[in-house]
Amino acid sequence: MSLPRFQHYIDGAFADGAVTFESVDPATGEAWAVMPAADAADVDRAVRAAHRAFLDSDWSRMTATQRGKLLHRLGDLLAEEAPHLAAIETRDTGKIICETRAQIGYVAEYYRYFGGLADKIEGVHLPIDKPDMEVTLRREPIGVVAAIVPWNSQLFLSAVKLGPALAAGCTVVLKASEDGPAPLLEFARLVDRAGFPRGVVNIVTGFGEDCGRALTSHPMVARVAFTGGPATARHVIRNTAENLAHTTLELGGKSPVLVFADADLDSAANAVIAGIFAASGQSCVAGSRLLVERGIRDRLLQILARKAAAIRIGDPQDPATEMGPLATRRQRDRIAEVVGRSLAAGARLVAGGHPRDGVGFYYPPTILDCDSQAVPSVREELFGPVLSVVSFDGEEEAVATANDTEFGLAAGVFTRDLARAHRLVRRIRAGVVWVNTYRAISPMAPFGGYGLSGLGREGGQDSVREYMRTKSVWIRTSDEPIPDPFVMR
Ligand code: NAD
Repeated sequence: MSLPRFQHYIDGAFADGAVTFESVDPATGEAWAVMPAADAADVDRAVRAAHRAFLDSDWSRMTATQRGKLLHRLGDLLAEEAPHLAAIETRDTGKIICETRAQIGYVAEYYRYFGGLADKIEGVHLPIDKPDMEVTLRREPIGVVAAIVPWNSQLFLSAVKLGPALAAGCTVVLKASEDGPAPLLEFARLVDRAGFPRGVVNIVTGFGEDCGRALTSHPMVARVAFTGGPATARHVIRNTAENLAHTTLELGGKSPVLVFADADLDSAANAVIAGIFAASGQSCVAGSRLLVERGIRDRLLQILARKAAAIRIGDPQDPATEMGPLATRRQRDRIAEVVGRSLAAGARLVAGGHPRDGVGFYYPPTILDCDSQAVPSVREELFGPVLSVVSFDGEEEAVATANDTEFGLAAGVFTRDLARAHRLVRRIRAGVVWVNTYRAISPMAPFGGYGLSGLGREGGQDSVREYMRTKSVWIRTSDEPIPDPFVMR
């Protein structure tokens, strides 16, 4: 039986790639579809199409209000097609169907939000310190955007790039991850139906070295929006030494969740479980370090072990499934390797820890009780369902432990003490701090990291400005002739 074939979307047309590769269903370990892989020539075609559309097309002549309407239309189509796209994303990445459906439904709101912002980007008039001068600042779209995403939540991670870029008037070449690219390649059909002029949005996939490098170093790219791991981010920064593109980086995390003795333990436990085991832990904001006040450690661990054991693991297409497989065999094997090293370094197994036999890339919900921050699972991002638990005594040690990481993406604080919550919010180094909740997001709230978790912010009103340049316009209002500068008076 022949497998379904996906195509790139370049210059308003669907096209094959230079070569193809098979995408594997993580629940079965079997190839289920054939994907195109772009090489440098495919990327060049896509970037040139985006460049043409940016400089001279119906898009470049469109009003901001018209751009906003197109984004709204894309949001509506996405909401309509969420069940279809969710089934494809679940098939290609193993993410469970109830999560993909809910997330894609919400991604529609991102396009609507950015559509609403499109005609609210205003210029500025400066009270300049010179007579007879009018000085205004124009906000202009930056140009061609290279957007690159990893495999998890590709529709969401691309919406926080495409949304503001298109609202600003840019054009985009979006590179889907080579792992699980199907949802974005299918999403191209909605872009096409929404009526964006050709070349405005181009969607390709391919491998890092051929496709990713060609895209981020392309001389016609003015802006790079990257989500992925810190090691790849360093390549991206080196690539942009070629084109000096303005770059934002959304990278990994080792996010702490701090639970104090006065917290509502059951509620905190539910947030901790969702924070680490949702999406099988393949989430940049996974709360992968649980920091627990020593006095409640045993009680909280008991609750967590019980809840972890009750998680229904199974077929990701079944709406009753609560945890599916990891996206790739490579990912599952890496997790098993880090857990092995962590146990050898003295961590104690509270739950899980043994990959299940049988088909698919499954790894069970795992909890490791760790005596120190030196255990590998406490320091390294696993991007999987592994919670490392470290105890603390008092607020000072809690803050020091939370900040003892090279990352700084997110943090959670569970306490009923309002004053303490405020103190912790100030002292924790992370781009997002959630108090008595975890993993809440919105198009209105900026998102991004400290340290190795990245550069810049996505989401919120200011993110549209990240896709614009400021032009200062000076107009002399005097009718007096300009004096000859070389005639002395
Ligand atoms: P990755 O860094 O390996 O790959 C990300 C993307 O970069 C892929 O599309 C890949 O093809 C591309 N790429 C690879 N080499 C490249 C190169 N030389 N030049 C340009 N592009 C290149 O990441 P991954 O392993 O697919 O994803 C997991 C990582 O993503 C984790 O570290 C995770 O925390 C992070 N992530 C961060 C966020 C966030 O918003 N902060 C969200 C999701 C995932």
